Amino acid sequence: MKIKADYANAPMWKDLTVKSSLPEELKCLDEIAHNMWWVWNYEARDLFRDLDPELYHEVKHNPVMLLERLSFARKEQIVKDKALMKRIKSVYTLFRKYIDVEPDKKRPSVAYFCMEYGIHSALKIYSGGLGMLAGDYVKEASDSNVDMCAVGFLYRFGYFTQSLSMEGQQVANYEAQNFSNLPIERQLDKDGSPMVIDVPYTNYQVHAYVWRVNVGRVKLYLLDTDNEMNSEFDKPITHSLYGGDWENRLKQEILLGIGGMLLLKKLGIKKDIYHCNEGHAALCNLQRLCDYIDEGLTFNQALELVRASGLYTVHTPVPAGHDYFDEGLFGKYMGGYPQKLGISWDEFIGMGRINPNDHSERFCMSTFACNTCQEVNGVSMLHGWVSQKMFAPIWAGYYPEENHVGYVTNGVHFPTWCATEWRKVYAKYFDAKHMSDQSNEEIWHGIYNCPDEEVWATRMALKNKLFDYIKEQFREKWLKNQGDPSRVVSLLEGMNPNALVIGFCRRFATYKRAHLLFTNLERLSKIVNDPEHPVIFLFAGKAHPADGAGQGLIQRIYEISQRDEFLGKIIFLEDYDFLLARRLVSGVDIWMNTPTRPLEASGTSGEKAEMNGVVNLSVKDGWWLEGYREGAGWALTEKRTYQNQGYQDNLDAATIYHLLENEIIPLYYDKDKKTGLSKGWVKVIKNSIAQIAPHYTMKRQLDDYYEKFYNKQAKRFKALSKDNNKLAKELAQWKETVAERWDAIHVVSAEWDYPAAGIETAQKYTIRYVIDEQGLEDAVALEKVNVHINKEGEERIFSIEPLKMVGHEGNNYIFEATLAPQQAGQFKSAIRMYPKHKELPHRQDFCYIKWLELPAHTV
Ligand SMILES: *Cc1c(COP(=O)(O)O)cnc(C)c1O
Repeated sequence: MKIKADYANAPMWKDLTVKSSLPEELKCLDEIAHNMWWVWNYEARDLFRDLDPELYHEVKHNPVMLLERLSFARKEQIVKDKALMKRIKSVYTLFRKYIDVEPDKKRPSVAYFCMEYGIHSALKIYSGGLGMLAGDYVKEASDSNVDMCAVGFLYRFGYFTQSLSMEGQQVANYEAQNFSNLPIERQLDKDGSPMVIDVPYTNYQVHAYVWRVNVGRVKLYLLDTDNEMNSEFDKPITHSLYGGDWENRLKQEILLGIGGMLLLKKLGIKKDIYHCNEGHAALCNLQRLCDYIDEGLTFNQALELVRASGLYTVHTPVPAGHDYFDEGLFGKYMGGYPQKLGISWDEFIGMGRINPNDHSERFCMSTFACNTCQEVNGVSMLHGWVSQKMFAPIWAGYYPEENHVGYVTNGVHFPTWCATEWRKVYAKYFDAKHMSDQSNEEIWHGIYNCPDEEVWATRMALKNKLFDYIKEQFREKWLKNQGDPSRVVSLLEGMNPNALVIGFCRRFATYKRAHLLFTNLERLSKIVNDPEHPVIFLFAGKAHPADGAGQGLIQRIYEISQRDEFLGKIIFLEDYDFLLARRLVSGVDIWMNTPTRPLEASGTSGEKAEMNGVVNLSVKDGWWLEGYREGAGWALTEKRTYQNQGYQDNLDAATIYHLLENEIIPLYYDKDKKTGLSKGWVKVIKNSIAQIAPHYTMKRQLDDYYEKFYNKQAKRFKALSKDNNKLAKELAQWKETVAERWDAIHVVSAEWDYPAAGIETAQKYTIRYVIDEQGLEDAVALEKVNVHINKEGEERIFSIEPLKMVGHEGNNYIFEATLAPQQAGQFKSAIRMYPKHKELPHRQDFCYIKWLELPAHTV
């Protein structure tokens, strides 16, 4: 017999989970780690870092993981270290003092819904701008101590991390998050078992676990379907952001909106305002309708209440950016709702259509949001106007400029994005109240009292910090991936912090035009290779995995960056994310942005730069159209010169080269021999900190939402729901009657006392209409609408002249106006009738319009 060469049975493993235990003295650290308050309080961050700097770096600044992995020996050391223990105590005191404050009950309470939240890179539940904005908002809600809670998803994979192949191709890596290492806590039921939300999907249920992120004083609840209660078909609902097909997207939006509302219900949470940040969450209004109907209201009554307390913020400037679902797919999941609502299928799906009866039209989540929220807003002044136009088809009968779409310009959370170095400078020169009075420009003028040397030194310190970070983060990666090591070494060694450093860091969507700088490589090469005045460009950003064009741009820039003449002058930094962004927005000299107008709804990274003395060079689009001040940065005009995009790109590129060559570089290098600083440059920095930064904080944004929307909506909702929803019922009843009789309401007589030969300015004439209101009492209003063709060749409102209701004979109401034109020109006029009620919040809330016939002789 041949002896077997090997003979062993399988090992019998026992799973051992060794939980790290903290000594009693350090338990408070665990409490701090599980509240993301540490993200924006540097005292806490610095403390965690100093517990074990190497480990802190290794765990990518995640304190939960840090504590988990802290060695037993190190823990014993810490406990014995008196100075460190004192610091722990003082940070804990700071923390408790902050956390123990009760929310302000005087301001309306808000439930906030969003697909993503960017709070810190330790919690990968965001992809980019929208998430960062939502994360910043929740942090500010905490700082401002308002009564808010937020709803989102705990993604198993989050968004991808980016690396580049040797050829510059983007490689997307999805890493599963281990939930026990995250700064989150499981939400439990009263009996101590994990809370589960059962969400109806057609004829079965999806079961979601609930996790809670403590964001200072605010709770962010996250739903998670990746669990054994669900089928393989449903587990992936919360796997990744914007991944999967349209079916998975619809399932996500059902989970966020409907599941989110069921979650709040289970937690016993009721808020005054329901805020949909982007259309993804709009189905929360569907669940709210169902809830009111369950309480005994009719569909129309319920809609009054839901609309009154609903706010929809749109972030997209183009219709293609919205979510649309085919009737077949939508019906597969939503087929049961019409019955619950007491309306027909066509009426239901029609709420997401421009033309409710057009069966080829897909259900649009944004249209549904517009139809179920009283208020809609864009995210900058210009984007407000773009959205008025974008949504115009929803409100037929009105011109875009009349549409009730407002705006709140986005801001950024000051303590998150302002570098510690600057916060210390501000603490020295600003009024002590500056943290609680951030929008007060006068306080920020304190920067003018800061010596130029201190401003320059702070900038240099942060520039060095950025360069050190780059060397530390990328050295190994580049040595491995970028071929010739001597080139990598010379690139890194050649990074000179005295150079003018310009950052272009953002998502690689084509409209952001990252390619613009590379229009004329010869000219660019001259700019960056001037030995006396070196310039370095840093690029960073991810392209959506499905966006081939965006990935092509990355590849092109990477390829250029590897050419001898650009090596070390154009640098692409992989995996743009929270920590890298924080270094970049504070470490470069200039923040550059070159979007195609008007496609940058707001943009926020440039605002982060402002509070760090980093100056913007940008197209006047989004926030920069409002933010730019002369002498405080550089701007390319918001006006288009060419319709042809290629021509426009060339012009914009030439303008950027010209600005760099003739203004920016000379000013930066106008350095004083003795001090080594440019006084002119410091002046631009001071102007931008004093005049721009105060207007783009998240505090200002939150206050704007209260002033423009939450306060008035909460007040109106209260009025509608008082006395068992009395007013809501009355209003619904009135709308029903008007709608029923609308077609029958008609003109009895019309007179235009208007000379056939035309009219001169200041010449008076009278218009008189008699309307049979079909038994309604003073329920309509009339107005003369005058339009003209503007410079851009578009038909726009020139003026509106209301007719006055001067009396009635039975059902017949008489309307009159005596008018006199103030301006000569070519106009078109028509008479428009609309329903009138003092409790309507605005015209599009009840968007019935009838254009009235003219008297025969005028036509
Ligand atoms: C701020 C930020 C964004 C958004 O920046 P935009 O100016 O809107 O492009 C995206 N990603 C990260 C990591 C950010 O910090």
